[in-house]
Amino acid sequence: MKKICVIGGGAAGMACAVLLSRKGYSVTILERGDRLGRKLSATGNGQGNVTNIHMGPEYYFSDDPEKVGRILSRYPWESTVGFLESMGGIFLPDTRGRVYPASRQASAVTDLFRREIGNAGVDVVFGAQVSSVAYDGVFRISWGGGQMCADATVLAAGGKAAKHFGTDGSAYALAEKFGHTVTPLSPALVQLKCDPKEIRGLRGIRTEAGLTLVRGGKEVCRTRGDVLFTESGLSGDAVFRASSYVQRGDTVCLDFLPSVPAERVREAAERGGLLCIVNNGLGRMLAAKRDAVGLVKGFPLTVTGTLGFDYAQVTRGGIPLGETDDSLMSRKRGGLFFAGEILNVDGVCGGYNLQWAFASAHAVAEGI
Ligand SMILES: Cc1cc2nc3c(=O)[nH]c(=O)nc-3n(C[C@H](O)[C@H](O)[C@H](O)COP(=O)(O)OP(=O)(O)OC[C@H]3O[C@@H](n4cnc5c(N)ncnc54)[C@H](O)[C@@H]3O)c2cc1C
Repeated sequence: MKKICVIGGGAAGMACAVLLSRKGYSVTILERGDRLGRKLSATGNGQGNVTNIHMGPEYYFSDDPEKVGRILSRYPWESTVGFLESMGGIFLPDTRGRVYPASRQASAVTDLFRREIGNAGVDVVFGAQVSSVAYDGVFRISWGGGQMCADATVLAAGGKAAKHFGTDGSAYALAEKFGHTVTPLSPALVQLKCDPKEIRGLRGIRTEAGLTLVRGGKEVCRTRGDVLFTESGLSGDAVFRASSYVQRGDTVCLDFLPSVPAERVREAAERGGLLCIVNNGLGRMLAAKRDAVGLVKGFPLTVTGTLGFDYAQVTRGGIPLGETDDSLMSRKRGGLFFAGEILNVDGVCGGYNLQWAFASAHAVAEGI
């Protein structure tokens, strides 16, 4: 029986292990932490937004969008739901198309994987931080205190975002040993920083807003959704989406009433100020400025940076897709595969990154 080593017990690694064990392979997961799926358990604000019914390569950033499209079309969102439900549970889309477990508990999705992996007899080694992968006819994988041989190796060790879940970017070096490159890395789906003076008194206020990102007077992106004022800047859905495009020095322009024309806001404000127009705390802050009503429809903030990798949900960049074939096998070393965030693929907010983790795991399992 062929022996497969999966490095990393996150969403992609666990999905690979389940799919490969169902095909009859002997699978070992090497996980540096003491639990499987720690990051998966934290997804979707703890509710587990596993995929999205609006799916396609246009929701992803990568060096090869066509390959992303081919992999997603071989494994659409319905396949993710089918795969998860084959282990148990019911998965349902919300009104925005985001798919969650009916229980709205991300940790329960991880529990499905843990149970399946246990039942399938997948070998799991915890505390196994892989430090070297070599090949001399078989793969020889080493970690502090252990080593194993395998016929094929899947590198599913994640990216560099949110290192408290075990991903500090050190696993890229394992691929570099085989001649792979790593594209420039940056944090994505991350809070934006701005001058604290510009948002004084707004901390904790959450509001629906239209958000336009502007660079050098030109619109870079426009989105709409939740915006949360934090101590150092902005968070929320709309902000995460814009963070995929942001550069230091850009302007974020917030429209606190995107579906109401400026004229109607002005007339209402002349009758009764900003009460029942915007959040009271926000209204008080705007009222102290010149043209408060104008600011309701266009509140500009200069982006001074992001909170960085530690606070990001995903990594922009990674092993180029161009260095792999359509089953995500390395073009440098046959038998070495990649799945999940370690690759140069990241999606926008809304279940796209887990969809990539599952779709890429499927491509790898089919390839093996
Ligand atoms: C707070 C938060 C919320 C999120 N919410 C969503 C969401 O709602 N929807 C969505 O689609 N995406 C979401 N994401 C992104 C998504 O979770 C990730 O893109 C996805 O988990 C990546 O899966 P992965 O298996 O590639 O990597 P990971 O899940 O990061 O797993 C990698 C694993 O490899 C292990 N590892 C690393 N190096 C080594 C090594 N050298 N040896 C052995 N093991 C190693 C790590 O410990 C880790 O367990 C969120 C991310 C965060 C941080």
